[in-house]
Amino acid sequence: MNSERKISVAVIGAGIVGICCACYLQRSGFRVTLIDRDEPALQTSFGNAGGLSPGSVAPIGMPGMWKQIPGWLLDDTGPLYIKGSYLVKALPWLTQFLLQSRSARVADISKALASLNGPCFEALQPLVEDAGISHMIKRSGQLFVYRSRKHMQKDALTHQLRGDAGARLEYLDAAEIRDLEPALAPIFESGYLMPDNGHCDDPYGMAQALVRSFLERGGRFQKTEVADFGFDEDGVTCVKTSTGDLQTDRAIICAGIWSKSICAKLGWNIPLESHRGYHVTLEDPGASLKHMCFPVEDKFAITPMSMGIRIAGTVELAGVDAPPNYARAQALLVAARKILPGIGTEKVTQWMGHRPCFPDSLPVIDRCSNHKGIFFAFGHGHQGLVGASQTGKVVDEMIRGVSPSMDLRPFSIGRF
Ligand SMILES: Cc1cc2nc3c(=O)[nH]c(=O)nc-3n(C[C@H](O)[C@H](O)[C@H](O)COP(=O)(O)OP(=O)(O)OC[C@H]3O[C@@H](n4cnc5c(N)ncnc54)[C@H](O)[C@@H]3O)c2cc1C
Repeated sequence: MNSERKISVAVIGAGIVGICCACYLQRSGFRVTLIDRDEPALQTSFGNAGGLSPGSVAPIGMPGMWKQIPGWLLDDTGPLYIKGSYLVKALPWLTQFLLQSRSARVADISKALASLNGPCFEALQPLVEDAGISHMIKRSGQLFVYRSRKHMQKDALTHQLRGDAGARLEYLDAAEIRDLEPALAPIFESGYLMPDNGHCDDPYGMAQALVRSFLERGGRFQKTEVADFGFDEDGVTCVKTSTGDLQTDRAIICAGIWSKSICAKLGWNIPLESHRGYHVTLEDPGASLKHMCFPVEDKFAITPMSMGIRIAGTVELAGVDAPPNYARAQALLVAARKILPGIGTEKVTQWMGHRPCFPDSLPVIDRCSNHKGIFFAFGHGHQGLVGASQTGKVVDEMIRGVSPSMDLRPFSIGRF
């Protein structure tokens, strides 16, 4: 960096996205303060399924999905549920979601997802090496299994998008699935392995280790709540927090689902909605898996973690403030028993988190056009662990003023 005084950057939100931004900016020589109202990574980045999938390029909204919406209202323990009392509030988001699910949009969205998620391992590598935690990254593939071949055929567009993005899919019959993962019940007719995908075996541990490495290299962490910003004619001057003003030259909003209210202060009304998801982690499962597995009809993931086996997934639209409905986590457990027979379910923890979702499944990665010095990096939805490292890389490039290593136009805040 050329300037004599190091440029200071405040990163608002110490989830995995903010942490990766902070690490990349620090590597480039900025003076970085990571801010969170809580200890780092205690929100959505705490309990995700750990999936790291460069081949994750299909958006959540796919053509024909509108037909399923009535069903989503009925079963509050089903894989997709909209709380009746929340429907009116969710309607504007759902409308945009359905518009973005048209075939014409899906191909473009998929290309954008490929540009963000494709380099996930390469972008994560320098950060996990700095932190000495490369062993947490398992590049062992992901296994997708179907009870019925017919259902797998229905997912043809997803497979095509993945193939178009260069991802490898190795198709398997029932016997090959059994050979690959003997712990799975013999109920799966067909499936495929994505050998270039993988997982992190401790997402919270990884986030903590990255923060430790950031602090050891001179980064600062401040536990305080961000309320607003201060500006002069040159742009942002400070972040206003519950414990006073923090002077800064630049600020990045990485506050996950809570970015919506922070952006409102800057005049941006954005369609960010929480896809509430749940996990149960079995600490003494008595079974082992070699791959992260997706029983696709059940719409959850099963991940071999360092602390046990985690079953995570499902989508619930009920807003940010409603208390968790842990009957949904228990339903995951019931379903998992059928897939992993005899699994030990005595020592179980349960959790709920808020996936920050835009209707087109893409995050916002952009600079603020009406307030100089403010940047945005949030809304990574179901793929925040995958997309965090490349987001950190391009946010650093944006702030350094070099041309970003991917096309950022699909990620603009003004697209809605
Ligand atoms: C069940 C489930 C399974 C998932 N599985 C996967 C997976 O396998 N792979 C994958 O890639 N993704 C997965 N995800 C998604 C992923 O976890 C999220 O996309 C990601 O964690 C979002 O990270 P974030 O940093 O944007 O947000 P968060 O982790 O929510 O961090 C935001 C931070 O901002 C802080 N904050 C908010 N407001 C303020 C304020 N005013 N002042 C100060 N601090 C503030 C919060 O305290 C929080 O720490 C899953 C999610 C769920 C729920």
